[in-house]
Amino acid sequence: MRGFSVPFVRALAALCVAFALPATAQEADPRWSIAIHGGAGTIARENMTAEQDAAYRAALQQALDAGKAVLAGGGDALDAVEAVITRLEDDEKFNAGRGAVFTWDGTHELDASIMDGRTRDAGAVAGVTGIRHPILLARKVMTDSPHVMLAGKGAEAFAAEQGLELMPPEWFDTDARREALERMKAERLSALDVDIKFGTVGAVALDSHGNLAAGTSTGGMTGKRWGRIGDSPLIGAGTYADNRSCAISATGWGEYFIRVGVAHEICARLRYDFRIAALEEQLGVPRDADGLPEYIIHASELALDAEIAQRAADDVMDEVKALGGDGGIILVTPEGHALFSFNTSGMYRGRATSDGVDEVAIYADE
Ligand code: ASP
Repeated sequence: MRGFSVPFVRALAALCVAFALPATAQEADPRWSIAIHGGAGTIARENMTAEQDAAYRAALQQALDAGKAVLAGGGDALDAVEAVITRLEDDEKFNAGRGAVFTWDGTHELDASIMDGRTRDAGAVAGVTGIRHPILLARKVMTDSPHVMLAGKGAEAFAAEQGLELMPPEWFDTDARREALERMKAERLSALDVDIKFGTVGAVALDSHGNLAAGTSTGGMTGKRWGRIGDSPLIGAGTYADNRSCAISATGWGEYFIRVGVAHEICARLRYDFRIAALEEQLGVPRDADGLPEYIIHASELALDAEIAQRAADDVMDEVKALGGDGGIILVTPEGHALFSFNTSGMYRGRATSDGVDEVAIYADE
């Protein structure tokens, strides 16, 4: 240790340890928070009937209520995410589970992922057919397999082993989705022309134990072929959760979200913001006789405000837009901020917190 004083080395070691501490659950705190989405896109008031508008709001509120009930009862963020997504997967208005878009070949290939912000354990499935709740299969991959991601036939074999609920192909069919595929083929349109909106579903939550979780489930994009996989089942693109920064679920034009690494990119920016804020605070700590800081400030002692989180999310969504992509994300922070960021005219969304926030919304201007 020649060249360094002992207190200096001790202080440095403490600082390093402080930053290297694993993400662990905070002490019990009644604070909880949840945000959900049912897809973003060209969703305009003038294109919705009053009945459609009301039906979407009711479906979102019901799913949000299911997540709220878990969190308000002291349950885990992962269970809240699962409670929301399984409901939306069963709802044919959304492009996940029942009501999923059709592939070029007239089938449904479903993608889903889930992540635990406490341990950064994750599970994902891609291109699976016949699974009623792909989000439950993703969770099984996380908890009951040594892997993070399974695809196609192998994932279906694993689902059968795990006793996941299976459904016949026609259970997933809806007339609206079939018409979209037929129109796409007949008029040589792209998925964007016929999908208009992305109907992927997702949820992010902070539970009262201080843990974050995120999940996403989708049928992908109409007319997809060649085993196309979007961002939704990709950890870091469509889904990410890390107790040190945030939980994210995305919806949108998957290819762009993959290229930007949207979910991880937002969380990484927030984590660095925490560290920079901690270093800045550290500079203001009083010095002892040796000129060393009297105590160490850990990044986790700081609270980032909602504006900083919103800015990180908006900046990353701007990057998606600059490349030509569109869509949106939902975000929850360890402080319990529940936020949205999207560059489309609407996003089916909702949020609730232990502070009394409880709302669903559709259009960008509400
Ligand atoms: N992100 C999904 C995908 O590209 C689509 C969506 O959000 O609806 O597969």
